[in-house]
Amino acid sequence: MNLIADRLNRISPSLTIAMTAKARALKAAGKDVIGLSSGEPDFDTPRNVKDAAIAAIERGETKYTDVAGTLALRKAVCEKFKRDHGIDYTPEEIIVATGGKQVIFDALVATINPGDEAIIPAPCWVSYPDIVQLAEGTPVIVQCGQNAGFKMTPEQLEAAITPRTKWLILNNPCNPTGAAYNAEELKKLTDVLMRHPHVWVFTDDIYEKLAYDGFKPATILEVEPRLRDRTVTMNGCSKAYAMTGWRIGFAGAPAHLIKAMDKLQGQSTSNTCSISQAAAIEALTGPQDSIEEMRKVYERRRNMVVDMLNQAPGIRCHKPEGAFYVFPDMRGCIGKTTAGGKKIETDEDFTIALLEEAGVATVHGAAFLSPGHFRISYATSDEALREACTRIQKFCAAMK
Ligand code: PLP
Repeated sequence: MNLIADRLNRISPSLTIAMTAKARALKAAGKDVIGLSSGEPDFDTPRNVKDAAIAAIERGETKYTDVAGTLALRKAVCEKFKRDHGIDYTPEEIIVATGGKQVIFDALVATINPGDEAIIPAPCWVSYPDIVQLAEGTPVIVQCGQNAGFKMTPEQLEAAITPRTKWLILNNPCNPTGAAYNAEELKKLTDVLMRHPHVWVFTDDIYEKLAYDGFKPATILEVEPRLRDRTVTMNGCSKAYAMTGWRIGFAGAPAHLIKAMDKLQGQSTSNTCSISQAAAIEALTGPQDSIEEMRKVYERRRNMVVDMLNQAPGIRCHKPEGAFYVFPDMRGCIGKTTAGGKKIETDEDFTIALLEEAGVATVHGAAFLSPGHFRISYATSDEALREACTRIQKFCAAMK
C-alpha cells in the first residue's frame, strides 16, 4: 500500500519555489546569482502596520478568532470593497484566510465535484489548475498569446463554456504576464457570463493596486453587479502592502458560499494569525501613501526592464499594465547554442542556462502553462535589475 495518497499525484510542486530554491543553493555555494524568480515585494512592511501588530500583541490579541476573521477586520474588508469598487458586502459575506492562496483553496475545494470544469486563461498562476485538480475538477486552459496582450477574448470564453463549467478564474492584473483588464474589456467578458447562468466567476485581484501609466484594473462586480450571486471577489495584503509573510487574504462572496468555505477552513487551519489580522485592519484603513510610493518604484523598474530586454537578441518583451512581472517571448533563441555550449530547445533550457552561465534566476514559461516565454519578477532593486538585464543581453548576444 502506498503511503502517499493518489490525490497528491494530480498536482505538481511549485516550479517558482523550485527555481528560487535552486538559485539560493547556487548562491550558498558562492556563485554570484541575481534572483528574479520570486513573486515577493522587496519592500519592508509599512511602519504603521508593524506598529499595529505590536500594539495587538501588547493588548493580548493573541488568541483564536472567528474562523472567518475578526468582525473588525471583516468590516474593514467591507469598507475596502466599497471604497475601491463601490461593492456592498456585509461581514457575513466576507472570509479572511491564510493568504489569498487559502481563499482560492477554500472556494474551489468547497464547490468542485469530480469532472466539474474551471476555465483558466493562460499564461496563468499555476496554483489555479493544481487546486482544481486536487479537487478532482478539470482545468480548461485557454491560451491567450502575447499578440492579444495575454488577455482572453469574449469569443474564447464563449467557446470554452460547456454544461460542466463551474468556474471562470480570472486574475487581474495577471501573474505571470502583468496583463490587466479595464472596465470596458471586462464588460465584454461579463456579457458572455450573463448568457450562462450556471457559471461562477472567481476574480483574483491581488495585484490591483499595482498598475501603471494611469491604467485602472476593474473588477467583475463593478462592471456587472448582476453577477453578484455567483462571484467571488478575492484580494489580500501580500502584494499591495508588502505583507507576504503575514498571510492575509480575503474574499467577498454570497453568504451561502462563505459559510461552506468557513466550514472547510474550520477543519483545516481555523483563523489566520490574530496579530496579522490586527495589522491588516491598519493596512486597509490607515494611511495608503505607501502603496503609491511602492507603485511608482515598480513602474520605473518595469519601464527599464522592458526597454533593456527588448535590446536582447531573440527576446520580445511586451509592456504589461500591472503586477510586478514581465513575461518575455524567448522563441527567437530556440535552436541556438549558448556560449557555454548548451543547445536551447525549450524555455526551460533557456532559464537553466541563464542561471548556470549568467547567474540570473527566472522561471520558464511552461511553469505557467505557456512555453516559449520566461517570467521575470522586477520586485527587486533597480541596481540588481540593471545588472540582470545586462547579463541577459550579453547571454543572448553570445548565442550562435
Ligand atoms: N494570486 C496570485 C495571482 C499570486 O501571484 C499570489 C502569490 O504569488 C497569490 C494569489 C497568493 O498570495 P498570498 O497567498 O500570499 O496572499
